Amino acid sequence: MVHKLSILILVFCFGLTTFAQDAYMDASAEEKEKTYSGGEAYDVKTFTQEFKSEKPKNIILLIGDGMGITQVFSGITANKGHLFLENCKHIGFSKTQSADKFITDSAAGGTALSTGTRTYNGAIAVDMDKKPLKTILEAAEENGLATGLVSSSAITHATPASFIAHQPQRSMYEEIASDFLKTDIDVFIGGGRDHFIARKDNVNLVDKLIEKGYRYEEDMNNVKKVKKGKLVALIDDVHPGRLSERGDMLPVATKTAINILSKNDKGFFLMVEGSQIDWGGHASSTIYIVEDMLDFDKVIGKALEFAAKDGETLVVITADHETGGMAITGGVTKEGIVKAEYPTKGHTAVMVPIFAYGPGAKEFIGIMDNTDVHDKMKSLLLGN
Ligand code: MG
Ligand code: ZN
Repeated sequence: MVHKLSILILVFCFGLTTFAQDAYMDASAEEKEKTYSGGEAYDVKTFTQEFKSEKPKNIILLIGDGMGITQVFSGITANKGHLFLENCKHIGFSKTQSADKFITDSAAGGTALSTGTRTYNGAIAVDMDKKPLKTILEAAEENGLATGLVSSSAITHATPASFIAHQPQRSMYEEIASDFLKTDIDVFIGGGRDHFIARKDNVNLVDKLIEKGYRYEEDMNNVKKVKKGKLVALIDDVHPGRLSERGDMLPVATKTAINILSKNDKGFFLMVEGSQIDWGGHASSTIYIVEDMLDFDKVIGKALEFAAKDGETLVVITADHETGGMAITGGVTKEGIVKAEYPTKGHTAVMVPIFAYGPGAKEFIGIMDNTDVHDKMKSLLLGN
């Protein structure tokens, strides 16, 4: 009896110690992620503020998912004082609330930006009655412009999906993939291959895309060589990995898309999403946020470089919502150190910044609804 009891106590104590150790390790790993301890800074170019036209021929919309002002400032600090983003002299704020929730998700947030209509959380370019809403990408296509979508998540994920698909729920990835074939989009680059080729209905959507005249690629080394035509690049089964795995995929994909789309004489509409800033916020990870914020700023650099040379391109940079309630609680600018705390693992309700560069940029000054961002872009690009 005594023997059994001591074994029981021994097992119990051993269990308790391992449990306490695991909890301690998790907590300390999470604490470590809250401090970005600096890295190589990159040079930030200054671009012209003189443009050829009053109205844009092209629009490049850059969405940093979960990118609030704190995420932006974490990037400024980590890059030792400056970002490409600072070339934008016209700055405003967007109220992000959805039709049914004070705190939006990326589907309703994306739909507000893509269609100018507020809807319920989870909706992909459909209204409260689940009726399809025309997106700015679809309207641009109808007007003969070239169009493209690029993201560092699955291309079927909520943000890019809300520019091209119409589905009652964001989780309907295979239905969303099918919607890509109902359009004439010229370029799309991201993850989400499984949703096109490993489907419940056994239909191979990549074969169908090739039949429709698209070039299909899975490797960024091939993607970056493409200069014209229609291009589909699905570079991962689902989501591209973190920056350490995916490398410069997003800036390279952006540059490739701009190269291809700018061949169209009538102009183009391109949306690029820095998808994973949001995931860093959900993980309370300053390291993750900073990595993806700086990657997104390099995308901004590519867009601004083209716009500065072209003189007829408007670049609009904004977010769908903030994630994590990120608060910067410490840092050293000259060393690029950033420390932050997070009161939530979810999204927050706060306004997000809008930065604009190029013809029409002054329209984006002030406080506006997320739907106004769509309305202004559409009237500048298509005149209605
Ligand atoms: Mg997203
Ligand atoms: Zn999120």
